[in-house]
Amino acid sequence: MDLYEYQAKHLFGKHGVPVIAGEVCTTPELARQAARKIGTAVVVKAQVKAGGRGKAGGVKLATDPDDAFAKAEAILGLDIKGHIVRRVLVTEASDIAEEYYVSFLLDRANRTFLAMASFEGGMDIEEVAATKPEALARIQVDALEGVSAAKAAEIAAAANFPVEVRDQIELVLQQLWQVLVQEDATLVEVNPLVRTPDGRIVALDGKVSLDDNANYRHASHADFLDRDETDAIELRAKELDLNYVKLSGEVGIIGNGAGLVMSTLDVVAYAGEEFGGVRPANFLDIGGGASAQVMANGLDIVLNDPEVKAVLVNVFGGITSCDAVADGIVQAIAMLAERGEPVTKPIVARIDGNNAVEGRRILAESGLSIVEMADTMDSAARRVAELASQAK
Ligand code: GDP
Ligand code: MN
Repeated sequence: MDLYEYQAKHLFGKHGVPVIAGEVCTTPELARQAARKIGTAVVVKAQVKAGGRGKAGGVKLATDPDDAFAKAEAILGLDIKGHIVRRVLVTEASDIAEEYYVSFLLDRANRTFLAMASFEGGMDIEEVAATKPEALARIQVDALEGVSAAKAAEIAAAANFPVEVRDQIELVLQQLWQVLVQEDATLVEVNPLVRTPDGRIVALDGKVSLDDNANYRHASHADFLDRDETDAIELRAKELDLNYVKLSGEVGIIGNGAGLVMSTLDVVAYAGEEFGGVRPANFLDIGGGASAQVMANGLDIVLNDPEVKAVLVNVFGGITSCDAVADGIVQAIAMLAERGEPVTKPIVARIDGNNAVEGRRILAESGLSIVEMADTMDSAARRVAELASQAK
Protein backbone atom coordinates (compact mmCIF):
# COMPACT_ATOMS: atom_id res chain seq x y z
CA MET A 1 0.00 0.00 0.00
CA ASP A 2 1.35 3.39 -0.98
CA LEU A 3 0.74 6.18 1.50
CA TYR A 4 -0.21 9.78 0.99
CA GLU A 5 2.37 12.39 1.91
CA TYR A 6 0.52 13.32 5.10
CA GLN A 7 0.41 9.66 6.16
CA ALA A 8 4.09 9.18 5.38
CA LYS A 9 4.92 12.25 7.44
CA HIS A 10 2.86 10.87 10.30
CA LEU A 11 5.11 7.79 10.32
CA PHE A 12 8.21 9.98 9.98
CA GLY A 13 7.15 11.97 13.02
CA LYS A 14 6.62 8.79 15.02
CA HIS A 15 10.25 7.82 14.41
CA GLY A 16 11.72 11.24 15.09
CA VAL A 17 12.29 12.43 11.53
CA PRO A 18 11.84 16.23 11.53
CA VAL A 19 8.66 17.17 9.67
CA ILE A 20 6.36 20.17 9.76
CA ALA A 21 2.93 19.39 11.09
CA GLY A 22 -0.01 20.38 8.95
CA GLU A 23 -3.69 19.94 8.48
CA VAL A 24 -5.48 17.88 5.85
CA CYS A 25 -8.36 19.86 4.32
CA THR A 26 -11.14 18.86 1.97
CA THR A 27 -12.47 22.33 1.13
CA PRO A 28 -10.98 25.77 0.41
CA GLU A 29 -12.73 27.13 3.50
CA LEU A 30 -11.06 24.54 5.74
CA ALA A 31 -7.74 25.43 4.11
CA ARG A 32 -8.35 29.09 4.95
CA GLN A 33 -9.06 28.20 8.58
CA ALA A 34 -5.97 25.98 8.76
CA ALA A 35 -3.82 28.80 7.38
CA ARG A 36 -5.29 31.23 9.90
CA LYS A 37 -4.42 28.86 12.73
CA ILE A 38 -0.87 28.38 11.44
CA GLY A 39 -0.50 32.16 11.21
CA THR A 40 2.36 32.32 8.69
CA ALA A 41 2.73 31.84 4.96
CA VAL A 42 1.67 28.30 4.14
CA VAL A 43 2.14 25.73 1.43
CA VAL A 44 -0.97 24.04 0.05
CA LYS A 45 -0.22 20.55 -1.28
CA ALA A 46 -2.37 18.14 -3.27
CA GLN A 47 -2.65 14.77 -1.55
CA VAL A 48 -2.56 12.22 -4.34
CA LYS A 49 -0.58 9.05 -4.74
CA ALA A 50 1.48 10.33 -7.62
CA GLY A 51 4.83 12.05 -7.89
CA GLY A 52 5.51 15.33 -9.64
CA ARG A 53 2.69 17.22 -7.94
CA GLY A 54 4.78 20.38 -7.92
CA LYS A 55 5.18 20.39 -11.68
CA ALA A 56 1.50 19.59 -12.17
CA GLY A 57 0.42 22.66 -10.21
CA GLY A 58 -0.45 20.70 -7.09
CA VAL A 59 1.93 22.47 -4.69
CA LYS A 60 1.46 26.19 -4.11
CA LEU A 61 2.67 28.74 -1.62
CA ALA A 62 0.05 31.01 -0.03
CA THR A 63 0.87 34.27 1.74
CA ASP A 64 -2.26 34.52 3.92
CA PRO A 65 -5.52 32.69 4.74
CA ASP A 66 -7.43 34.16 1.77
CA ASP A 67 -4.62 33.16 -0.53
CA ALA A 68 -4.70 29.65 1.00
CA PHE A 69 -8.41 29.54 0.14
CA ALA A 70 -7.66 30.53 -3.46
CA LYS A 71 -4.78 28.05 -3.81
CA ALA A 72 -6.82 25.21 -2.30
CA GLU A 73 -9.66 26.06 -4.66
CA ALA A 74 -7.27 25.82 -7.59
CA ILE A 75 -5.77 22.51 -6.45
CA LEU A 76 -8.85 20.61 -5.22
CA GLY A 77 -10.40 18.73 -8.12
CA LEU A 78 -7.23 18.84 -10.22
CA ASP A 79 -6.44 15.70 -12.15
CA ILE A 80 -2.82 14.76 -11.48
CA LYS A 81 -1.77 11.77 -13.57
CA GLY A 82 -5.26 10.32 -13.38
CA HIS A 83 -5.73 11.01 -9.66
CA ILE A 84 -8.37 13.54 -8.69
CA VAL A 85 -7.29 15.73 -5.77
CA ARG A 86 -9.81 15.42 -2.91
CA ARG A 87 -7.62 16.66 -0.08
CA VAL A 88 -4.87 19.19 0.40
CA LEU A 89 -2.27 19.37 3.13
CA VAL A 90 -1.76 22.85 4.54
CA THR A 91 1.52 23.38 6.39
CA GLU A 92 3.72 26.24 7.43
CA ALA A 93 5.89 27.21 4.47
CA SER A 94 9.60 26.64 4.93
CA ASP A 95 12.40 28.78 3.62
CA ILE A 96 14.69 26.58 1.63
CA ALA A 97 18.45 26.97 1.28
CA GLU A 98 19.11 23.59 -0.33
CA GLU A 99 17.11 20.55 -1.42
CA TYR A 100 18.48 17.02 -1.00
CA TYR A 101 17.24 13.56 -1.83
CA VAL A 102 17.35 10.43 0.35
CA SER A 103 15.61 7.07 0.11
CA PHE A 104 15.74 3.47 1.23
CA LEU A 105 14.20 0.74 -0.81
CA LEU A 106 14.03 -2.97 -1.25
CA ASP A 107 16.27 -3.80 -4.21
CA ARG A 108 14.70 -7.05 -5.30
CA ALA A 109 16.98 -7.61 -8.27
CA ASN A 110 20.06 -7.57 -6.04
CA ARG A 111 18.37 -9.20 -3.06
CA THR A 112 19.33 -6.40 -0.74
CA PHE A 113 18.24 -3.01 0.50
CA LEU A 114 19.52 0.11 -1.15
CA ALA A 115 20.11 3.61 0.10
CA MET A 116 20.02 6.37 -2.48
CA ALA A 117 21.05 9.89 -1.67
CA SER A 118 21.89 13.03 -3.55
CA PHE A 119 23.03 16.53 -2.90
CA GLU A 120 20.84 17.56 -5.82
CA GLY A 121 17.32 16.87 -4.62
CA GLY A 122 14.10 18.61 -5.47
CA MET A 123 11.72 18.01 -8.27
CA ASP A 124 14.09 16.63 -10.87
CA ILE A 125 15.69 13.66 -9.18
CA GLU A 126 14.69 11.34 -12.03
CA GLU A 127 16.57 13.62 -14.39
CA VAL A 128 19.59 13.67 -12.08
CA ALA A 129 19.52 9.87 -12.06
CA ALA A 130 19.34 9.75 -15.85
CA THR A 131 21.78 12.48 -16.84
CA LYS A 132 24.17 12.68 -13.88
CA PRO A 133 24.17 9.23 -12.30
CA GLU A 134 27.36 10.08 -10.41
CA ALA A 135 25.38 12.67 -8.41
CA LEU A 136 23.09 9.98 -7.03
CA ALA A 137 24.90 7.80 -4.51
CA ARG A 138 23.73 4.20 -4.25
CA ILE A 139 24.85 2.24 -1.23
CA GLN A 140 23.72 -1.27 -0.41
CA VAL A 141 22.35 -1.83 3.06
CA ASP A 142 22.59 -5.27 4.59
CA ALA A 143 19.22 -6.34 5.98
CA LEU A 144 20.71 -7.65 9.21
CA GLU A 145 23.26 -4.91 9.80
CA GLY A 146 20.90 -2.08 8.91
CA VAL A 147 21.86 1.57 9.09
CA SER A 148 24.29 2.11 11.95
CA ALA A 149 25.90 5.48 12.62
CA ALA A 150 28.83 4.32 10.51
CA LYS A 151 26.59 3.25 7.64
CA ALA A 152 24.74 6.58 7.77
CA ALA A 153 28.09 8.39 7.61
CA GLU A 154 29.07 6.30 4.60
CA ILE A 155 25.84 7.23 2.79
CA ALA A 156 26.13 10.93 3.68
CA ALA A 157 29.73 11.04 2.51
CA ALA A 158 28.92 9.27 -0.76
CA ALA A 159 26.18 11.82 -1.43
CA ASN A 160 28.50 14.74 -0.70
CA PHE A 161 26.19 16.38 1.80
CA PRO A 162 27.72 19.57 3.25
CA VAL A 163 29.81 18.91 6.34
CA GLU A 164 27.88 21.42 8.47
CA VAL A 165 24.66 19.41 8.22
CA ARG A 166 26.05 15.89 8.00
CA ASP A 167 25.41 15.06 11.64
CA GLN A 168 21.76 15.98 11.27
CA ILE A 169 21.36 14.09 8.00
CA GLU A 170 23.08 11.02 9.39
CA LEU A 171 20.61 10.99 12.25
CA VAL A 172 17.69 11.38 9.80
CA LEU A 173 19.05 8.48 7.73
CA GLN A 174 19.05 6.24 10.79
CA GLN A 175 15.51 7.34 11.67
CA LEU A 176 14.26 6.73 8.14
CA TRP A 177 15.79 3.27 8.25
CA GLN A 178 13.80 2.66 11.43
CA VAL A 179 10.65 3.72 9.54
CA LEU A 180 11.44 1.12 6.89
CA VAL A 181 12.16 -1.68 9.36
CA GLN A 182 9.67 -1.02 12.12
CA GLU A 183 6.76 -0.14 9.86
CA ASP A 184 7.57 -2.93 7.38
CA ALA A 185 7.95 -0.59 4.42
CA THR A 186 9.52 -1.47 1.08
CA LEU A 187 10.20 2.16 0.19
CA VAL A 188 10.88 5.27 2.22
CA GLU A 189 11.74 8.38 0.23
CA VAL A 190 12.25 12.03 1.08
CA ASN A 191 12.45 14.52 -1.77
CA PRO A 192 13.20 17.18 -0.89
CA LEU A 193 14.97 16.83 2.40
CA VAL A 194 15.69 20.52 2.90
CA ARG A 195 18.23 22.59 4.66
CA THR A 196 16.65 25.79 5.90
CA PRO A 197 18.60 29.09 5.84
CA ASP A 198 19.12 28.75 9.58
CA GLY A 199 20.70 25.33 9.11
CA ARG A 200 17.95 22.90 10.11
CA ILE A 201 17.21 19.70 8.21
CA VAL A 202 13.51 18.99 7.52
CA ALA A 203 11.66 16.37 5.48
CA LEU A 204 9.39 18.49 3.26
CA ASP A 205 7.90 15.59 1.34
CA GLY A 206 7.49 11.90 2.09
CA LYS A 207 6.76 8.77 0.18
CA VAL A 208 6.26 5.41 1.87
CA SER A 209 5.14 2.05 0.49
CA LEU A 210 4.10 -0.46 3.11
CA ASP A 211 4.42 -4.20 2.68
CA ASP A 212 0.83 -5.44 2.86
CA ASN A 213 2.03 -8.92 3.78
CA ALA A 214 3.04 -7.48 7.14
CA ASN A 215 -0.28 -5.76 7.82
CA TYR A 216 -1.11 -8.28 10.52
CA ARG A 217 1.74 -6.86 12.56
CA HIS A 218 0.43 -3.30 12.34
CA ALA A 219 -3.15 -2.83 13.46
CA SER A 220 -2.74 0.94 13.14
CA HIS A 221 -1.93 0.72 9.43
CA ALA A 222 -5.57 -0.14 8.74
CA ASP A 223 -6.27 3.57 9.28
CA PHE A 224 -4.23 4.31 6.16
CA LEU A 225 -6.63 2.37 3.96
CA ASP A 226 -8.13 4.66 1.43
CA ARG A 227 -11.88 4.30 1.33
CA ASP A 228 -12.29 6.67 -1.63
CA GLU A 229 -9.87 4.90 -3.87
CA THR A 230 -10.32 1.24 -2.98
CA ASP A 231 -13.17 -0.45 -4.71
CA ALA A 232 -16.07 -1.24 -2.35
CA ILE A 233 -16.07 -4.92 -3.32
CA GLU A 234 -12.32 -5.13 -2.74
CA LEU A 235 -12.80 -3.65 0.71
CA ARG A 236 -15.38 -6.26 1.62
CA ALA A 237 -13.17 -9.01 0.24
CA LYS A 238 -10.34 -7.72 2.40
CA GLU A 239 -12.58 -7.88 5.45
CA LEU A 240 -13.36 -11.51 4.58
CA ASP A 241 -9.64 -12.20 4.16
CA LEU A 242 -9.98 -13.07 0.48
CA ASN A 243 -7.38 -12.52 -2.20
CA TYR A 244 -9.57 -10.52 -4.56
CA VAL A 245 -8.82 -7.98 -7.25
CA LYS A 246 -11.63 -6.29 -9.14
CA LEU A 247 -11.26 -6.18 -12.90
CA SER A 248 -13.62 -4.91 -15.51
CA GLY A 249 -15.56 -7.75 -17.13
CA GLU A 250 -18.59 -10.03 -16.97
CA VAL A 251 -17.24 -13.41 -15.85
CA GLY A 252 -16.71 -13.87 -12.12
CA ILE A 253 -13.71 -16.09 -11.44
CA ILE A 254 -13.07 -18.29 -8.42
CA GLY A 255 -10.10 -20.63 -8.30
CA ASN A 256 -7.58 -22.11 -5.94
CA GLY A 257 -3.96 -21.08 -6.29
CA ALA A 258 -2.76 -17.80 -7.73
CA GLY A 259 -1.18 -19.46 -10.76
CA LEU A 260 -4.33 -21.34 -11.69
CA VAL A 261 -6.45 -18.22 -11.27
CA MET A 262 -4.07 -16.14 -13.39
CA SER A 263 -4.21 -18.66 -16.23
CA THR A 264 -7.99 -18.88 -15.84
CA LEU A 265 -8.18 -15.14 -16.46
CA ASP A 266 -6.18 -15.56 -19.66
CA VAL A 267 -8.23 -18.49 -20.89
CA VAL A 268 -11.54 -16.70 -20.20
CA ALA A 269 -10.36 -13.51 -21.90
CA TYR A 270 -9.29 -15.58 -24.91
CA ALA A 271 -12.55 -17.57 -25.06
CA GLY A 272 -14.55 -14.38 -24.54
CA GLU A 273 -13.29 -12.86 -27.77
CA GLU A 274 -15.60 -15.17 -29.66
CA PHE A 275 -18.57 -13.80 -27.70
CA GLY A 276 -18.21 -10.12 -28.31
CA GLY A 277 -15.31 -9.47 -25.97
CA VAL A 278 -16.53 -11.02 -22.72
CA ARG A 279 -13.85 -10.55 -20.06
CA PRO A 280 -13.02 -11.80 -16.56
CA ALA A 281 -14.56 -9.62 -13.83
CA ASN A 282 -12.08 -10.34 -11.08
CA PHE A 283 -9.19 -12.31 -9.70
CA LEU A 284 -10.12 -14.42 -6.70
CA ASP A 285 -7.88 -17.07 -5.21
CA ILE A 286 -9.61 -18.96 -2.40
CA GLY A 287 -6.42 -20.79 -1.53
CA GLY A 288 -5.65 -24.39 -0.71
CA GLY A 289 -8.03 -25.23 2.11
CA ALA A 290 -11.18 -23.98 0.44
CA SER A 291 -13.85 -24.77 3.00
CA ALA A 292 -17.57 -24.34 2.37
CA GLN A 293 -17.43 -21.09 4.33
CA VAL A 294 -14.60 -19.72 2.19
CA MET A 295 -16.37 -20.83 -0.97
CA ALA A 296 -19.56 -19.13 0.25
CA ASN A 297 -17.68 -15.92 0.99
CA GLY A 298 -16.04 -16.11 -2.43
CA LEU A 299 -19.31 -16.68 -4.26
CA ASP A 300 -20.91 -13.93 -2.23
CA ILE A 301 -18.22 -11.41 -3.19
CA VAL A 302 -18.15 -12.37 -6.86
CA LEU A 303 -21.94 -12.49 -7.28
CA ASN A 304 -22.32 -9.12 -5.59
CA ASP A 305 -20.44 -7.48 -8.43
CA PRO A 306 -23.26 -6.08 -10.61
CA GLU A 307 -21.07 -6.46 -13.69
CA VAL A 308 -20.87 -10.24 -13.23
CA LYS A 309 -23.23 -12.22 -15.48
CA ALA A 310 -21.84 -15.73 -14.98
CA VAL A 311 -19.28 -17.37 -12.72
CA LEU A 312 -16.51 -19.83 -13.39
CA VAL A 313 -15.33 -21.97 -10.50
CA ASN A 314 -12.05 -23.52 -11.53
CA VAL A 315 -10.59 -25.74 -8.86
CA PHE A 316 -7.83 -28.26 -8.98
CA GLY A 317 -8.13 -30.58 -6.02
CA GLY A 318 -4.88 -31.20 -4.20
CA ILE A 319 -4.66 -31.36 -0.45
CA THR A 320 -8.29 -30.32 -0.43
CA SER A 321 -9.95 -33.04 -2.46
CA CYS A 322 -12.62 -32.35 -5.07
CA ASP A 323 -15.43 -33.89 -3.05
CA ALA A 324 -14.76 -31.33 -0.31
CA VAL A 325 -14.75 -28.57 -2.92
CA ALA A 326 -18.02 -29.81 -4.42
CA ASP A 327 -19.56 -30.00 -0.95
CA GLY A 328 -18.31 -26.46 -0.48
CA ILE A 329 -20.09 -25.23 -3.60
CA VAL A 330 -23.35 -26.96 -2.67
CA GLN A 331 -23.24 -25.70 0.91
CA ALA A 332 -22.25 -22.22 -0.23
CA ILE A 333 -25.28 -21.97 -2.50
CA ALA A 334 -27.51 -23.22 0.33
CA MET A 335 -25.96 -20.72 2.75
CA LEU A 336 -26.58 -17.83 0.37
CA ALA A 337 -30.19 -18.94 -0.17
CA GLU A 338 -30.69 -19.07 3.60
CA ARG A 339 -29.29 -15.57 3.88
CA GLY A 340 -31.98 -14.45 1.46
CA GLU A 341 -29.53 -14.03 -1.44
CA PRO A 342 -30.37 -17.00 -3.66
CA VAL A 343 -27.91 -17.51 -6.48
CA THR A 344 -29.49 -16.78 -9.84
CA LYS A 345 -26.46 -16.23 -12.05
CA PRO A 346 -25.20 -19.33 -13.87
CA ILE A 347 -22.11 -21.08 -12.48
CA VAL A 348 -19.81 -23.25 -14.52
CA ALA A 349 -17.66 -25.56 -12.44
CA ARG A 350 -14.56 -27.26 -13.64
CA ILE A 351 -13.18 -29.48 -10.94
CA ASP A 352 -10.28 -31.75 -11.49
CA GLY A 353 -7.51 -33.42 -9.57
CA ASN A 354 -7.71 -35.37 -6.33
CA ASN A 355 -11.02 -37.27 -6.12
CA ALA A 356 -12.54 -35.45 -9.11
CA VAL A 357 -15.01 -38.22 -9.94
CA GLU A 358 -16.60 -38.06 -6.51
CA GLY A 359 -16.68 -34.25 -6.66
CA ARG A 360 -18.48 -34.26 -9.99
CA ARG A 361 -20.96 -36.84 -8.67
CA ILE A 362 -21.81 -34.60 -5.73
CA LEU A 363 -22.46 -31.64 -8.00
CA ALA A 364 -24.46 -33.72 -10.49
CA GLU A 365 -26.64 -35.13 -7.75
CA SER A 366 -27.12 -31.81 -5.98
CA GLY A 367 -29.99 -30.97 -8.31
CA LEU A 368 -28.72 -27.41 -8.60
CA SER A 369 -29.82 -26.32 -12.05
CA ILE A 370 -27.68 -23.18 -12.06
CA VAL A 371 -24.46 -25.21 -11.78
CA GLU A 372 -23.07 -26.70 -14.96
CA MET A 373 -20.01 -28.85 -15.15
CA ALA A 374 -17.23 -28.77 -17.67
CA ASP A 375 -14.49 -31.35 -18.19
CA THR A 376 -11.65 -29.08 -19.20
CA MET A 377 -10.52 -25.59 -18.46
CA ASP A 378 -10.92 -24.57 -22.12
CA SER A 379 -14.46 -25.88 -22.43
CA ALA A 380 -15.37 -24.33 -19.09
CA ALA A 381 -14.04 -20.94 -20.22
CA ARG A 382 -15.87 -21.17 -23.51
CA ARG A 383 -19.16 -22.12 -21.87
CA VAL A 384 -19.01 -19.44 -19.17
CA ALA A 385 -18.17 -16.79 -21.76
CA GLU A 386 -21.17 -17.91 -23.79
CA LEU A 387 -23.48 -17.76 -20.75
CA ALA A 388 -22.19 -14.32 -19.82
CA SER A 389 -22.71 -13.02 -23.34
CA GLN A 390 -26.29 -14.34 -23.39
CA ALA A 391 -27.07 -12.47 -20.17
CA LYS A 392 -25.48 -9.24 -21.36
P1 GDP B 1 6.24 16.62 -5.49
O1 GDP B 1 6.44 17.54 -6.65
O2 GDP B 1 5.03 15.77 -5.66
O3 GDP B 1 7.44 15.80 -5.19
O4 GDP B 1 5.95 17.56 -4.22
P2 GDP B 1 6.94 18.17 -3.14
O5 GDP B 1 6.32 18.08 -1.81
O6 GDP B 1 8.30 17.59 -3.24
O7 GDP B 1 6.99 19.70 -3.52
C1 GDP B 1 7.53 20.12 -4.76
C2 GDP B 1 8.42 21.33 -4.58
O8 GDP B 1 7.68 22.40 -3.99
C3 GDP B 1 9.59 21.10 -3.64
O9 GDP B 1 10.68 20.51 -4.31
C4 GDP B 1 9.88 22.49 -3.19
O10 GDP B 1 10.74 23.13 -4.09
C5 GDP B 1 8.54 23.17 -3.23
N1 GDP B 1 8.03 23.28 -1.85
C6 GDP B 1 7.35 22.36 -1.15
N2 GDP B 1 7.12 22.79 0.10
C7 GDP B 1 7.68 24.02 0.20
C8 GDP B 1 7.80 24.98 1.25
O11 GDP B 1 7.35 24.81 2.39
N3 GDP B 1 8.47 26.14 0.96
C9 GDP B 1 9.00 26.38 -0.27
N4 GDP B 1 9.64 27.50 -0.46
N5 GDP B 1 8.91 25.49 -1.27
C10 GDP B 1 8.27 24.33 -1.05
MN1 MN C 1 8.71 15.55 -3.71
